[in-house]
Amino acid sequence: MLYFDANATTPCAPEVLEAMRPYWNTSFANASSPHRAGRVAAQAVAVARRAVAECLDARPHEIIFTSGATESTNLVFWGLLLAPRTRRHIVVSAIEHKAVLESAALLEEQGFEVTRLPVTPDGVVDLNIAARVITPETALVSVQAANNEIGTIQPILHIARLAHQAGAFFHVDAVQALGKMPVSMLDWECDFASFSAHKIYGPKGIGALFVKGGPMRWPWPRPLRGGGQEGGLRPGTLNVPGIVGFGAACEILRQRPAEILENIATLRDLLENSLKKVFNNRIRIVGENVERLPNTSGLLIKDIDTDILFLRCKNVLFSNGSACNSGTIELSHVVKSVLLDASLDDRFLRFSLLENTTKSDIELLSRIIQENILYE
Ligand code: PLP
Repeated sequence: MLYFDANATTPCAPEVLEAMRPYWNTSFANASSPHRAGRVAAQAVAVARRAVAECLDARPHEIIFTSGATESTNLVFWGLLLAPRTRRHIVVSAIEHKAVLESAALLEEQGFEVTRLPVTPDGVVDLNIAARVITPETALVSVQAANNEIGTIQPILHIARLAHQAGAFFHVDAVQALGKMPVSMLDWECDFASFSAHKIYGPKGIGALFVKGGPMRWPWPRPLRGGGQEGGLRPGTLNVPGIVGFGAACEILRQRPAEILENIATLRDLLENSLKKVFNNRIRIVGENVERLPNTSGLLIKDIDTDILFLRCKNVLFSNGSACNSGTIELSHVVKSVLLDASLDDRFLRFSLLENTTKSDIELLSRIIQENILYE
């Protein structure tokens, strides 16, 4: 099987599985329990929290463990929604993940005004427009660090400063950035950021919300109520094996040689160059001229039958957009927002490489695509 869907999810690294193992049925105590076994679990959580914090250039108490980025993002938007007296304007980019767009839509239903920032034809937020629409009425600005479908990287620090100059909070969806580009809560000057462990060879169902200054600095009512874990922001029994797995994945990331990303970018370029030869002038590489994630290739190809391609290439796993949009032939909101001139004949394919993708994987993939392509 050839796996080219790393942006949807990654396999758990063997070291991650090994680190998690004792916490299922040996050191399985509740991390909030006062007895010795509980303290063992709490200690494992503390170690993992430090590992995640170091990886994000944050402080341990600023890391709130959640079930993943969707929950983290929802917490931020729900917090704002619950605030009794607040500004009532939100700014998001048009190419956010549904976790952000749907959360913003919820607040819109409740009377907030939502501005969806357009992006340039290269898939980057238009800063001139951002500067105009972020005003002293804006409560929250939420922009992703990198896009899941096309990999384009956003000018996060610039947008953070625009938000702060207007007195607004700034949230970053950093799910796709982690592990594929430098991530620093300090350098980005953000107030909140969302993460999922399963995109960095960690387990599914665990992630984090970064809250600048920690739970004591949370500016709104707490949306979830219960036993008070995670500073009251994410109450509920801690997922100790998941947290330990997330910590282990972050530790691996921290020690990973920098050349890995360069190598992935070289392979991604090799793939794009060979597909350019296969499709000639039918292919467009989205975001080709701007900074992109090294593992991501979003391609718009004219007149190909993607259903047949998927059917014929059973052992090659790739995507026709984000995983949540699969099953429909319609171009995703991301592609439509980036390429305003995309037509009904255009089809989108996304290839996202794992860290262990090899040159021969790429050569095989190109050959399989070439042999199985059918034009409509
Ligand atoms: N944001 C981005 C950019 C994503 O790519 C994803 C998942 O694909 C999410 C948020 C949601 O992550 P999760 O499903 O782990 O909550």
